[in-house]
This record gives sequence, C-alpha cells and structure tokens, in this order.
Amino acid sequence: IGFVAGQDPELAEAMQRELVRQRQNIELIASENIVSPAVMAAMGTVLTNKYAEGYPAHRYYGGCAYVDQVEQIAIDRACKLFVSKFANVQPHSGAQANLAVYFALLEVGDTILGMDLAAGGHLTHGSPVNMSGKNYHFVPYGVNADGYLDYDALRQLGREVKPKMIVAGASAYPRAIKFDVLADIAHEVGAYLMVDMAHIAGLVAGGAHQSPVPYADVVTTTTHKTLRGPRGGLILTNNEELAKKINKAVFPGTQGGPLEHVIAAKAVCFGEALRPEFKEYARKIVENAQALASELTARGVKLVSGGTDNHLMLIDLSDEECTGKELEHNLDEVHITANKNSVPGEKRSPFVTSGVRIGTPAVTTRGFGPEEMKVIADCIADCIFDFENKKDQVAARVAELTARFPLYE
Ligand code: PLP
Repeated sequence: IGFVAGQDPELAEAMQRELVRQRQNIELIASENIVSPAVMAAMGTVLTNKYAEGYPAHRYYGGCAYVDQVEQIAIDRACKLFVSKFANVQPHSGAQANLAVYFALLEVGDTILGMDLAAGGHLTHGSPVNMSGKNYHFVPYGVNADGYLDYDALRQLGREVKPKMIVAGASAYPRAIKFDVLADIAHEVGAYLMVDMAHIAGLVAGGAHQSPVPYADVVTTTTHKTLRGPRGGLILTNNEELAKKINKAVFPGTQGGPLEHVIAAKAVCFGEALRPEFKEYARKIVENAQALASELTARGVKLVSGGTDNHLMLIDLSDEECTGKELEHNLDEVHITANKNSVPGEKRSPFVTSGVRIGTPAVTTRGFGPEEMKVIADCIADCIFDFENKKDQVAARVAELTARFPLYE
C-alpha cells in the first residue's frame, strides 16, 4: 500500500481502510481466507507484464522462457498435491474453470445433474441466471429433510434423466461428500462426474476430507478458499484425452492470456499446502468448525443437519424472529463478517433468508482455536437472541479477540 500511496493517495486510502477492516473483523465468510505474505507478494511482481497465450513450451508469444518455468512449477505442484496426472492452472476463477469444463465435454442443450442452489449448490451448477443454466439443461438434485445429500434419490434421478454429466460439490453444504458413491452413480448411468471441490480443496489437500481426484473424471476448484491461495481456478484430471480437451477449452476456448503473476501465487500456495504444517491447518479448520457448532448448539442455536463435518455450518433461523438478513446486519455492527444464506426448504425470500453461513478457514489461519470458538458462539447467540441489550458488550469482546491475534503486522 505504501508504493501506491506515493502515487495515488485516494486509492491507497481505500486499500488502507480495507486492511484495517480485516484486522478489526472476525472473518467468518466460509469462502474467504487470509493469504501468506509470500502468496500476496507473488501477485505483485513483474510477471503481470507478460503475455503467454498457450501452454509451457507451446506459446503464441516470444520471451516466455521464465513464465514457462513458473507455470510448470505450478502444474507440477498441483499434480503432486492432489495426486493427479494433469492440471490446468490457468482458469482466472472457479466460475471460469467450471464453464471451461462444460465447454470441453458437453454440447449446448445436454442434460446435467447439478446440486440445487437452495440446497447448497453454486450458481455455475445450473442456475437459470448463470450461463451454465442458459446453455445446458440442468436438472437439480438436493438434500433430504435432515439436510444430508440424498444419494438414493440422486441415483434414481440419474436413471430417469440419463444425464451426460453429474456436477457435485457445493458452496453451502456442511457435511462430507461421498465421492466414491457419486462416481458409482455417474458411471452407472453413463455420465461424467465433475466435482467442484472449491470449498473443501484445502481440506482435501490436508487429508481432512476424502479426495474426489481418484473417483471423478474431472475436478475443478478455486484456489482461494480453504486452500489459502490467490483468487483463481484450477482443473485436474487423470484422463489424458479429457486433459487435452480441457486445455483447449480454457485457451483458446474461454480465456485469453493467463495471469502468470496469479499462477506464481498459486505455485506458492501449492508449495505451502505440500508442507506437513498444512495437514495440521486442515485438521484445525475442522476442529474449530466442530467446536463452534457444538458451542452454538449449546446456546440454543439451530444448525442445518445439526452440525458439520467440514469447515462451514449453516445457522437455521427458520423458527426465529431474527432473519438471515438481520443477523448478517447485527454481526456486521459488532465486526463479525458472515453472509445470509437460504436454508433447505427456505420460506423467506432470497434477499431475507432464514440462514447465515459461517466458516472457520480465515479464523483458523489467524490462530484462533476452540477457546476462541466459544467466545464467537457467545457473540453470535447474543446477536440472534438479545442484540439491542448486548451489542456493546459483544463489540468489546470482538475487539479484544482481534487485538490478541494481530494480522499482517
Ligand atoms: N464453485 C463453488 C463451489 C464455489 O463456492 C464458488 C465460489 O463461491 C465458485 C465455484 C466460483 O468461484 P469464483 O468466485 O472464483 O468464480
């Protein structure tokens, strides 16, 4: 920010305020994290100057010798980390990765099974407002009354509609996903299995969740959630034929020049995730999530499916006066950041909702443990049940906690 301030104080001031916000807030958005200084530094380098359309050793521009090295390091580390034969590290985002896979393996109008947005799926899994839902015939599947994926219903649906692809993975699903079962269903009905592991990639890398890579035909992910890298996407496959199609679908199919500075940051992130400490980090994310879930439950807060197996949980406010929108706002006022979210069987509008999604990747990076989860659970419960009386006290507890765990000092 110092460099920017010298030349552009107006912009630097906004950036500085964002740094202060991150320092002062307890970050519970399940899809966010806090990158290491090395990941951040890699993005602010001369690599941003370079055009490199194509792939290492097959570029459409001269001068690519060193960005080739950068990109190859990222590819090799991604393959090693996730035990995959092929990796494409160029997708600019998770959405780009998903659209590239559809473009590679499907024809417009093909039938796909995707998890319903209301059940925890992502917009790119067939929402009518997304290109996926406009170009392909997505049939949604969901969760049962307990909030768990209904594998039997999915198998039945697959037999009925004979999809070309089943898309698995979610943005707001608190339970472990059985990729071996999903692969069995997909292959029984003659469909590709694409797993979008964006949310849980760090847990997979750290051995805290079953890996989809041995089971799925293609795996996509973002690199910036539990994986703790730069904002970006990644595609993995063990199938050489599919890998060739996917490479063509990323470039020239759906993207232009790769962001080599971001690819360098992905390489740093994969390198960090290959270290033994990352296993410990992944384990702690889940430990913190489970501690937070049981403390919230003890305070009378209802959770979708009653708890969590991963990094996130969904507070269920269906029976409360307080709505998702209201709780998000209350939490904001006391410097806790989270997002409202629909719950399965939602009765309120998507702008109001009966849920709030919370996750532990960022607070775990910051160093919080089960003791701090108790404090956070207290703060959240107070924001639901007695906000007006307790808000000053809660804000003071948040300030004390964030001061004890400094960020980017
Ligand atoms: N896939 C899943 C499961 C996600 O949760 C998200 C983002 O929230 C994405 C894809 C999209 O990632 P991006 O925002 O990088 O496009």
